[in-house]
Amino acid sequence: MELSQLKLTAKRNEICKRLDLKDSDDILRYYPFKYEQYSLTAYKDFEIGEKVVFEGELISSPSTFRFKGNRSRTSFKVLYEEEVITVSIFNRPWVKSGADDKIVIVGKYEGNNKVTATSFYAKDINEILGINPIYSIREGIKQNEIKKLVLSTYEKCKDTIIDEIPEDLLNEHHLIDLKTALYNIHCPADSLSLKKALARLKYEEFLRFYLALEALKGSGNQVLKEKKEFDINELKKFIKKLPFDLTADQMLSVQDIINDLRSDKPMYRLIQGDVGSGKTAVAEVGLYANYLSGYQGALMAPTEILAKQHYLSFLDIMPKNVRVGLLTSSNKDNSLIKDKLSRGEIDIVIGTHALFQESVEFKKLGMVIADEQHRFGVKQRRALKDKGESVDFILMSATPIPRTLANSLYGDMSISTIETMPIGRKGCDTYRINKNSIVDIIPDLKKKLDEGRQIYIIASAIENSESYAGKDATGLYNSLIDVFAPYKMALLHGKLSSEEKDEIMSLFNDNKVQILVSTTVVEVGVNVKNATVMVIYDADRFGLSQIHQLRGRVQRGNYKGTCYLLSDTKDPDTSKRLEVLCSTNDGFKISEADLKLRGPGDILGTRQSGLPTFVLGNLFEDTKIIEASKKDAKRIVENLDREDYIHFYQSILAKALIKSID
Ligand code: ADP
Ligand code: MG
Repeated sequence: MELSQLKLTAKRNEICKRLDLKDSDDILRYYPFKYEQYSLTAYKDFEIGEKVVFEGELISSPSTFRFKGNRSRTSFKVLYEEEVITVSIFNRPWVKSGADDKIVIVGKYEGNNKVTATSFYAKDINEILGINPIYSIREGIKQNEIKKLVLSTYEKCKDTIIDEIPEDLLNEHHLIDLKTALYNIHCPADSLSLKKALARLKYEEFLRFYLALEALKGSGNQVLKEKKEFDINELKKFIKKLPFDLTADQMLSVQDIINDLRSDKPMYRLIQGDVGSGKTAVAEVGLYANYLSGYQGALMAPTEILAKQHYLSFLDIMPKNVRVGLLTSSNKDNSLIKDKLSRGEIDIVIGTHALFQESVEFKKLGMVIADEQHRFGVKQRRALKDKGESVDFILMSATPIPRTLANSLYGDMSISTIETMPIGRKGCDTYRINKNSIVDIIPDLKKKLDEGRQIYIIASAIENSESYAGKDATGLYNSLIDVFAPYKMALLHGKLSSEEKDEIMSLFNDNKVQILVSTTVVEVGVNVKNATVMVIYDADRFGLSQIHQLRGRVQRGNYKGTCYLLSDTKDPDTSKRLEVLCSTNDGFKISEADLKLRGPGDILGTRQSGLPTFVLGNLFEDTKIIEASKKDAKRIVENLDREDYIHFYQSILAKALIKSID
């Protein structure tokens, strides 16, 4: 149901807005992130430092002590099992009791009949005991408000909940129906019903994921293509002429590509390698082989900056007879390029999202490579693939995941992994700074500038806004510009026009600007060898893999990179995450840590790509469910003559497409 149909109060509408809940489905699937088990604690079992739950009788009126900054401590006395207990609670300067002055306290026992409460309830204790869901909330939203929102939404729309998963699959795995599962995930009566709800909803998440993957491959993977034939000696010559020797792993990936090109099965391959492992060179060799077979090829990049950079590198490396073109939405020559593509007068085109406009036609498209694949939606990948009949498809990802995991995640998509780095890489020293400020490292930064190096300064937002409490690029630019004078500083972000972006990137590239204050538009691919220092503000706001990508920018040349992670977070888990980056530079380890900490949605970019994400599912623990759902996804795709199967499949597809970025 739409939010408007739910007729929510203004307050609840506001909550939905802040938590980005767009319809009843979003609300019902706003799952608790953990559960707390409340059981009554007898007085004789009170232990210092341990959690206690009990119901007492309020016997003194509460007194409140106020601190600075709207903070307070409220204390009152209750009688419990003939004992007088003093209860304190922070920042809740009001206390309400229920019938007969009864009040339920949940808190920690401090000894001497003192309890620090984390919450209290003016309710019958039996309503509190049992399993309690805990939601992840934002400031100003209370647990109880979410719980009530979920329950009232459930009441209003429970009869419209349709279980799309085909019944035979549910029966086979002994899974409960969706309606019950959704209720029990929020209000489990006991741990068994919670377990059943989880099993059902996890299965659904994985099944959706694998079905979307099947869709992505195209159900027509039985369709054969024309084998590509070319003179291998020509390709060898090309590889010899590259400015460096390919690493062993690059060669293996090239070999995989060659085999796929020569096969009559369309290629659908993921090439994954750490930042800087040299995926571009592999793409170049692949596209050249495709050219030699008489086909056009396309390389799509997620940003204009990156597309431009690839274009220049292709111009450099491709033999003169290969006609290379650039197609981005801001390119003035666009219509000319399109004409040439349709007439077959361009052999290799590099571009951005602009490549899959309908107006782009190829004479004979044979290969598509998507760089930094996670930035593309399902829709776009398919759109481009559908532009030709014998199209081989490669995805290149810089957030590599361990091979075994990749295999289980991507099913039977072929995977080439570049694990070794080109020799001579100096790596990167990463330091955590416990302040969201550069004051302490200004001398170090100036020293690097004096040595002739250049610096990136990264912020997570362009401008300051009400909803954003961190540092913004524009503000940093304004406040830092004088600090490093006479060195020149420039500001780069996604809202600039592409001419402005080009201008700034080339100034930085030519060392006419020494310090680039930027948002994450430089995250992927950008290659300025003399820039060896990176400062990341609000590092706690970024994912590990994202920071790893970012710092990949400062280890491109012959100098060792330096990266400073600025964050004043007090959260021990967040600190631990940032420490992972300081202790290893291995992208595989980092994405594994990230996967464990955050779930795969962000890492695989499935959030942007339109693939369903796993909220509940855990890649490391749910291997049985993963295997089952993977098999079932296949089964559904193979039996699309069944009405319930096709219905489910189409609904997944529709959702995946809607969610991909346009
Ligand atoms: P990524 O895998 O992150 O896309 P790139 O393809 O941009 O990495 O390569 C990073 C840098 O390494 C480029 O400057 C490229 O020229 C260089 N490079 C790639 N392969 C090799 C190699 N085999 N030996 C030396 N340098 C290489
Ligand atoms: Mg790259």
